[in-house]
Amino acid sequence: MYSLLLKNGRLVDPASGVDEKLDIAIEGTSIACTARDMDPGQARETLDMEGEILVPGIIDSHVHLTGRLGGHEGFYMLARAGVTTAVDFAGPVTEIRDCFSKEACGLNIASLEAIIPCDNLTSENPSSSELEGVVLKSLEDGGLGIKIMGGHYPLTPEATMRSVEVSNRYKAYIAIHAGTTRKGSDLEGALEAVEIIGTYSAHLAHINSYCRGTIRPALEEVLELLGQLRGRKNIVSGSYLAMVNGTSGKCIEGRPESLITRRCLEMGGYDQTTPGLEKAILSGFAGVSTRKGKANVLLYGEEARQVWLEDDNVPVSFPVNSPEAILLCAISKRDDNSFIVPSFVSDGGAIARNCIVERGLMLVKMQYMSLADFILKTSVNPARMLGLTGKGSLSPGKDADITALDLEACSASMAIARGKVIMKDKEVLGTGGTMLITEKASPRLKGDAFQRINLSESLLFSKSSS
Ligand SMILES: [Zn+2]
Repeated sequence: MYSLLLKNGRLVDPASGVDEKLDIAIEGTSIACTARDMDPGQARETLDMEGEILVPGIIDSHVHLTGRLGGHEGFYMLARAGVTTAVDFAGPVTEIRDCFSKEACGLNIASLEAIIPCDNLTSENPSSSELEGVVLKSLEDGGLGIKIMGGHYPLTPEATMRSVEVSNRYKAYIAIHAGTTRKGSDLEGALEAVEIIGTYSAHLAHINSYCRGTIRPALEEVLELLGQLRGRKNIVSGSYLAMVNGTSGKCIEGRPESLITRRCLEMGGYDQTTPGLEKAILSGFAGVSTRKGKANVLLYGEEARQVWLEDDNVPVSFPVNSPEAILLCAISKRDDNSFIVPSFVSDGGAIARNCIVERGLMLVKMQYMSLADFILKTSVNPARMLGLTGKGSLSPGKDADITALDLEACSASMAIARGKVIMKDKEVLGTGGTMLITEKASPRLKGDAFQRINLSESLLFSKSSS
């Protein structure tokens, strides 16, 4: 007896080359089989998926879920957006570990530890042995590795290089937000990051965000960066589809703490000071994130100013991304037909821009990419990047992580994670969650709520190309 039977949906699974009307039978947390006209009597529960497209669960490999940027509302927001697996890109890993079993809405969750000078690093130029300690602590706490915050909280180029080397040595995931004490979070910073990574492996975060046209026209910037990444499959990456970014509204000593926030103010023609940010919020250039119901929304104008005055340690968003960069990062391919930027990410979660399904499907509707390409960028490739060998496909034996898409409405109508319906018709039903941890995590992290993954299987370290 199967636990769940999905009938009459169109199953699209590029990993196995399937695109046809097939029923999917789920047993527990895995896909048992796919076949035509299965008997509902074989399952304890049957759902009619007529008119829906069933794809491998959406994996958003760059989100924010902690008090560091957004908050725990992000779990609910991701489940509602049709996501089944997400990677928190800042930590603290211990915050994710301590909250996910109560708050993850049924999602599979992984986390990276941000490394920040004067927070968990003694300086912007930490030694290899200090970095080794931080990497191993992240793994032990249940993280997949580390994230360099670059443009926000930069390290020296030398320390950035040491972080890459140490992470590769321990096969820990390493994500880099471009920018060091020498270069900014822009094209120059991104080119510097490519050079620093060299022949090591790393994830360069949100490629489109370094091509905002601050040095040269945005189109030239994105063409140059994509040209650099074209021959470098050792660098995995993502790009997002929202026009707004997400940064911090926190101010100290009369100005925003984050260099990115200051850069955004400069781009909008505002002073890079606390009053400058206040003016940008009042005029509607900066949106302020605040909780409404179970989700965060972006507020503008006077209402936003009041929220920010009460507590400035909230995410703020500026419409600074370039449409040219967004589109070219989304669709550009190599000669072998692989995407230069292998994944769509939202960089959302608790920041209100979880739009990879909505906007990705718009690109499909406009015929800028095929539905199979959309699935490659939202599930197949992220699964490979993270070494999630059970995900990214709907073949028998794979994890029962499934997203139902309504192509007409450009939205997700249902999400199933580990065999359980976690969202249906925008109602979030999932409870509990699963944290994806590595073999190096503390043995105390055990039980059904944890799944150990092997990062040697990750594209970063397996050297097999996408
Ligand atoms: Zn981010």
